[in-house]
Amino acid sequence: MIAWRVFREGLGVAVRVPLVAGNWKMQKDLRGAVELARGLAEALRAEPAPGVEVAVFPAFPFLLPVRHALEGTGIGLGAQNCHEEAEGAFTGEVSADMVRSTGAAYAIVGHSERRRIFREPDETLNLKVRAALGSGLKPIFCVGETIEQREAGRTEAVVSTQLALGLDGITGREAEPLAIAYEPVWAIGTGRNATPAQAQEVHAFIRGYVANRFNEALAGAMRILYGGSVKASNAAEILAGRDVDGALVGGASLEAKGFSEIARAAARAARAKSG
Ligand code: PEP
Repeated sequence: MIAWRVFREGLGVAVRVPLVAGNWKMQKDLRGAVELARGLAEALRAEPAPGVEVAVFPAFPFLLPVRHALEGTGIGLGAQNCHEEAEGAFTGEVSADMVRSTGAAYAIVGHSERRRIFREPDETLNLKVRAALGSGLKPIFCVGETIEQREAGRTEAVVSTQLALGLDGITGREAEPLAIAYEPVWAIGTGRNATPAQAQEVHAFIRGYVANRFNEALAGAMRILYGGSVKASNAAEILAGRDVDGALVGGASLEAKGFSEIARAAARAARAKSG
């Protein structure tokens, strides 16, 4: 905890480019995905979100067409998952190299739906983070507690265990492209978001964890996103947290105008923090 305090006092608020990431999950067909990408590009062209990185995460088959639809727009692209092996007889799976070869820059790893529905254990997620980094993808590594864990006062224990296991064996230098998403499981797709204070508290804890586990410079530079029922109407207050560097957005990313409003809220929040 001492190192953590030194970090906070020593570095103050580091400048981090906010990232607003839209996780489209298993939604949209080919036409719908391309239309959504075009709609988002148009919404951000009409009303930009300066200084914010915006990225979308369509289903695997639509990575390439969405990339083409986004050509020249500055909007980034990522996958919702990747397999931990480089290649081989893994029917139905998609490797990090395959994702990278579509032009995608990001991969979400450890989303709570992958942890819970597909029973992906921490050890596998660690291999996926390593595979993504090895392929030149920037992983967005998700952590977060269930409501039972929060009510039992175990949020920090759960999050630090997920970070310890998921990032095991990774050096500070290797971790540079990484972003972390704090996604309380009870807030995902439920319409129930963490309060700004709850989000900021866990984000500050995560940044302290990164300072201790890696180093203070990395902690100051690493983006920590909040995810869990973020929408245009609550984005400003959540993004105002000094350790909240953007959002991982599910449901509200499926509508171009609302998602672009979240990006603009991130731009305003970043300006307020730096000013
Ligand atoms: C998510 O899928 O990562 C997410 C945060 O979903 P939602 O915004 O719908 O809660």
